[in-house]
Amino acid sequence: MKLQLLGTAAAEAVPAVFCACDMCRYAREKGGKELRTRSGAIIDDVIKIDFGPDSCHHALQNGLDYSRLHSLFITHTHSDHFQVMDLACRKPPYAHAPANDPPLTIYGNAAVEERLQPHLNERTLFRQMKPFETVYAEGYQVTALEAVHCISLDPNAGYPVVHEGAVYHRSEEALFYLIEKNGQRILYAHDTDEFTPADMEFLTGKKIDIISMDCTNGYLELDYVGHMGIRENLHMREKLLACGAADEHTLFVSTHFSHNGLLPHEEMEKRLPGFLIGFDGMIVKTPESM
Ligand SMILES: [Zn+2]
Ligand SMILES: [Zn+2]
Ligand SMILES: [Zn+2]
Repeated sequence: MKLQLLGTAAAEAVPAVFCACDMCRYAREKGGKELRTRSGAIIDDVIKIDFGPDSCHHALQNGLDYSRLHSLFITHTHSDHFQVMDLACRKPPYAHAPANDPPLTIYGNAAVEERLQPHLNERTLFRQMKPFETVYAEGYQVTALEAVHCISLDPNAGYPVVHEGAVYHRSEEALFYLIEKNGQRILYAHDTDEFTPADMEFLTGKKIDIISMDCTNGYLELDYVGHMGIRENLHMREKLLACGAADEHTLFVSTHFSHNGLLPHEEMEKRLPGFLIGFDGMIVKTPESM
């Protein structure tokens, strides 16, 4: 399998739309790997994960053709992952499909369904996913895991998750996904904080080939619950290796960076030993497909 990271920034992009901080100024000047668009990925050009505001740009940049896309998995409804108005453009007069073209099925949580509802039709279908549920799409087995994300201060918000021994409530049931085919596995783990005990139990012994992780906070060591940074990525790598979710062949990728905790690419490489630092357009392959 081939994982392509299409966008590797958090919600405000890098350089952030209106920002004049040192990192953003550096990124504008340096260009290349330092320019990061909003999050999104695609597996083998057929399984799309998330559809943020830069998705159209991603298609142009990487020669993708979304008219051929039939399976889209959404992690949560934050604006950098879910641009509903672009998805609404799947019907005439905004899009014309060849005869007998199969519909696009969009998978996601109840919040995704609510926002998509007005735009669903025979060309665009929705299938709700719950944590630890598996679906089959395009010959791939895709399992939803529970994300420590969309944390709400309202104890009545529902969707409880356990994080470091405490229970947190979420405004929606944010997900992340494990994608499997022919014994090869890719874990696309963002947005989320360090995984829940239930996630860890599910992933134990899976020997995943590629693990892509949220590194929003970068070098910042924050108390904030809902994202990871360098400190948490290194910790998660140890935990995943210890329980056999990963082994010495696993490729760890760090991505979804905010300008606030970000450093130049080479500096991020030094601070994250054992990780590939994601950049827009990056392709990572499982051993079978090399
Ligand atoms: Zn995000
Ligand atoms: Zn900035
Ligand atoms: Zn988010």
